[in-house]
Amino acid sequence: MYVFRRVSDLQAYLRKQQVNNRTVGFIPTMGALHNGHLALIRTSLAANQVTVCSIFVNPTQFNDAKDLEKYPRLPSKDLSLLAKVGCQVVFLPTVAEVYPPEGLDMPTVDLGGLEFPMEGAKRPGHFAGVVQVVARLLDIVKANYLYMGQKDYQQQAIIRRMITVLQLPVQLKTVATQREADGLAMSSRNVLLSSEHRAQAPQLYETLKWVAESLAENKTPDGLEQQALARLTTDYLQAEYFSIVDGHTLQTVSDSNAHDLIVACTAVWAGEVRLIDNMIIKGQL
Ligand code: AMP
Repeated sequence: MYVFRRVSDLQAYLRKQQVNNRTVGFIPTMGALHNGHLALIRTSLAANQVTVCSIFVNPTQFNDAKDLEKYPRLPSKDLSLLAKVGCQVVFLPTVAEVYPPEGLDMPTVDLGGLEFPMEGAKRPGHFAGVVQVVARLLDIVKANYLYMGQKDYQQQAIIRRMITVLQLPVQLKTVATQREADGLAMSSRNVLLSSEHRAQAPQLYETLKWVAESLAENKTPDGLEQQALARLTTDYLQAEYFSIVDGHTLQTVSDSNAHDLIVACTAVWAGEVRLIDNMIIKGQL
């Protein structure tokens, strides 16, 4: 496994690979890797000759300095997991490699309003940072395929839009959310949960499943959102939002018959840890 810290070294390697129709799959991560990340890597490994995983805790997407500081960082464990799964290339840049002090000519992208609801409303500036880093990393790696998790539904919708608007020569593949045995979506933040909060965290998945079943029984989205919020507000959980939205526009749904793709998305505080999850409750991505 090759580990590169400099853009120039990574690009010198990739230039040699990108001949003879060898395809490159790319998985951007912030490290503290778990089986969710590894599912993206495995999907890429099965489809491409070269898989590149980046580990970079991107400061520009954190709107809360404390959150950035406490974000788990486990580089040596990450490298051994990546070697074990058979990833060929790891990119571990410094902040100055990704954002050179002399500045970069980065495009501004009209995100069509996808950036405003849900995570966008609660984490101002977050998606501008995500778009900035993914655009920069794609410019460096020039991958054929980009792999992202459904776990961050709004994020993958925004990056899909960015790729279309900028006409980037890369195809986005969204990989299903990987869960623990009790349904909790795998997340780097899960290691920060206390045992009490961890015990109640599967309630996100339970509630999403209940909402999916209830929508199929013709319950109205509006009523379901209110009931879901109540279920996700307990001694140890504090719901921040529960939104039933169109899977393309991310706008709230009132008549579920008028949409072919509907997603329920939620963010819940479990103590100091903010958990997000979602479920497609009508249609397919
Ligand atoms: P992160 O390191 O949290 O920025 O995540 C890197 C990539 O892994 C993103 O595309 C996430 O959506 C994806 N990811 C994180 N958790 C999961 C999961 N439980 N299942 C599938 N993909 C995930």
